[in-house]
Amino acid sequence: MNIRPLLTEEQILTRVREMGREISKDFARPNEENALPPVALILANGALFFAADLLRRIDFDVELEVLRISSYAGTQSTGEIKLSGVFPTEKIRGRRVIIIDDIFDTGLTLSHIRAKAIADGAAEVCTCALLSKPDRRVVPDSIDYVGFSIPDHFVVGYGLDLNGAWRTLPYIGIIE
Ligand code: 5GP
Ligand code: MG
Repeated sequence: MNIRPLLTEEQILTRVREMGREISKDFARPNEENALPPVALILANGALFFAADLLRRIDFDVELEVLRISSYAGTQSTGEIKLSGVFPTEKIRGRRVIIIDDIFDTGLTLSHIRAKAIADGAAEVCTCALLSKPDRRVVPDSIDYVGFSIPDHFVVGYGLDLNGAWRTLPYIGIIE
């Protein structure tokens, strides 16, 4: 199996820094009604590396919640989103929530988690992913912050895996 580089470590970090600045600016208005900081819902494992880099570039305090999600078997989406563990319903009620995923593909995962956060009473929800594959979308939802739009290829690295492998590559590449 060969991996063809798509995004270098430097390209990723440059873009992640820009996204951090953009989110910092958008969230700059004061959190009037309550003093509690926003909650970042990190969709693990895929978004762990991205979230760690992004959140360190945001200039306000954020509380973290990690959700373990899976919808892929090999390189195919099963279309069914599996959440293991408990959704932090109590914590997000009345708070601003930033949902962070690695890639916005069919869109099912982020739209499902967004709907769940809204139903559970989050005050405001925004979604964020490092990558997006616009050609694959099956839901009408859009996403608030995207790092890079990429063509429809299966990618690995910087948190993204193939059956658990390649996740710790520092760059992103296409599996050939
Ligand atoms: P969606 O629900 O938007 O179809 O899928 C999102 C999830 O599918 C991502 O969180 C990611 O886990 C997985 N996924 C989609 N495309 C890729 C890809 O090219 N590579 C890897 N490793 N995972 C992908
Ligand atoms: Mg994922």
